[in-house]
Parts: sequence; structure tokens; C-alpha cells
Amino acid sequence: MAMFDNLKNVAKVLQESGKIELYKQILEIQQKLLEMQNEINKLNKRCTEYQEKLKTNNDIEHRANAYWLRSNKDGPFCTRCYDKNKELIRMKNDQNFYYDCPECKNSYRGPGYREPEVNKNWDSWDSYRG
Ligand SMILES: [Zn+2]
Repeated sequence: MAMFDNLKNVAKVLQESGKIELYKQILEIQQKLLEMQNEINKLNKRCTEYQEKLKTNNDIEHRANAYWLRSNKDGPFCTRCYDKNKELIRMKNDQNFYYDCPECKNSYRGPGYREPEVNKNWDSWDSYRG
């Protein structure tokens, strides 16, 4: 960065001309600026993260026991993980349309879930008995 190069040049001139007290002050200023620059970088990173979270928060909708993104219809995401940590964890479905969260092991019956065949058989037995 040009500002740091300029300070370095000033420090060098002061050191060479024997103005040690001013030279030390320039070094301290340089150190403080470096710390401030690091802090700005950290805050910028956090700001970007918050903007992303806000964008997600405005885009998310609760539907069929899960969260989905309106913009690209992506989902389903775990409601527990998002409510607790603001993390979008994609739920995986097994062959019976049962959705599981790989992170917290939360699960729910997704759209398309059908009762197992065993129960249907019991229903048919009831109708058979009249
Ligand atoms: Zn989860």
C-alpha cells in the first residue's frame, strides 16, 4: 500500500539523519495503522457475512415442515439448524420420503410420504372383517 511505503521512506530519512525520537514515533504510527487496517478487514468480512445472512433470511420460507429458498426453489433445509445457528443444512430424503438432517439428525415426513404397506394391510383386514 502506498501509504505504508511513504511512511517507510519518511522513517528511513529520519533514521539516517539521526532523528531517532521522530523515527520511533513514525514506527509506532505505522504499527497502529497496520492494526487499524487489520480491524477494518475483519469488520468488512463480518459485514459481508451479515449481508449474506440477511439476504438468506429474506429469501427463506417455511413450507412442508422445512425451509426452502424462494429465489431458486432450493431445499429442503433443516428448520432446527437454521433457527438455532442460521445455517442452511440440506436435508436428505430416503426412499420413503423421510427427510433427515445430517447435522442434527432431525427428521420429518416430506411431501409424498406414504404410510408403510404394513398399515395398509391392517386397513384392508378391517374392511375385510366388515
Ligand atoms: Zn439440522
